[in-house]
Amino acid sequence: MSGVSLNGITKAYGQLEVVHGIDLEVQEKEFVVLVGPSGCGKSTTLRMIAGLEEITDGDLSIDGRYVNQVAPKDRDVAMVFQNYALYPHLNVADNIAFGLRIRRTPKAEIESQVKEVGGILGLTEYLERRPADLSGGQRQRVAMGRAIVRQPKVFLFDEPLSNLDAKLRTQMRAEIKRLHKRLGVTSIYVTHDQVEAMTLADRIVVMHDGRIEQVGTPMDLFLNPANTFVAGFLGSPP
Ligand code: ADP
Ligand code: MG
Repeated sequence: MSGVSLNGITKAYGQLEVVHGIDLEVQEKEFVVLVGPSGCGKSTTLRMIAGLEEITDGDLSIDGRYVNQVAPKDRDVAMVFQNYALYPHLNVADNIAFGLRIRRTPKAEIESQVKEVGGILGLTEYLERRPADLSGGQRQRVAMGRAIVRQPKVFLFDEPLSNLDAKLRTQMRAEIKRLHKRLGVTSIYVTHDQVEAMTLADRIVVMHDGRIEQVGTPMDLFLNPANTFVAGFLGSPP
């Protein structure tokens, strides 16, 4: 089991509450997309799951374990950001291996993992290059490689494609989908892009002003939007 369970998850910055008691069950191996307009609380929610933001109220479980107080590195999650902060002085192989070195993984195992993950992501020919000599799409693949080698129970994506041009975005979307099919890791993916949500998600969670408006499959939401906000946001008839 490696689902994620949010129970009344709330975030306040001082007096200002920005996430208002969210309930959500993400099933093992499921690909769930949080979608909603800018400022609705998507990143804050994801960062609370990652442990990068303290939870003001509510309970969070990952893989059946209550983790509110657990440090980010011990939560078995890996996050992929929009700004793939790669180490500029390290080549692709060393960037991918970075998290493993910190954990004192044996050298032979690091080498075989970098090889395998590089192969999965189509980076085999680029392992010796520095990030500056890669395209945007290749850099984003390295960032994903760094997440994959850690073999997390859950992947968290925060708008990973929004810095890429339209063509590359479409291509990377397909790759993320293929990767999810192959690895089967529970994924929570944040975007403000409706098309991205519709194409990637097993289930979509529509957020608005720190609340969940509706949860359902892309088809559910398209055919039976719960309210005019969901209908308008996803572009289906009211
Ligand atoms: P989204 O990712 O959906 O665009 P965020 O989760 O980043 O939205 O932000 C949700 C709300 O919380 C916004 O109104 C934002 O201004 C506010 N917010 C985010 N981070 C902070 C912070 N560190 N201090 C105060 N307010 C914040
Ligand atoms: Mg955000």
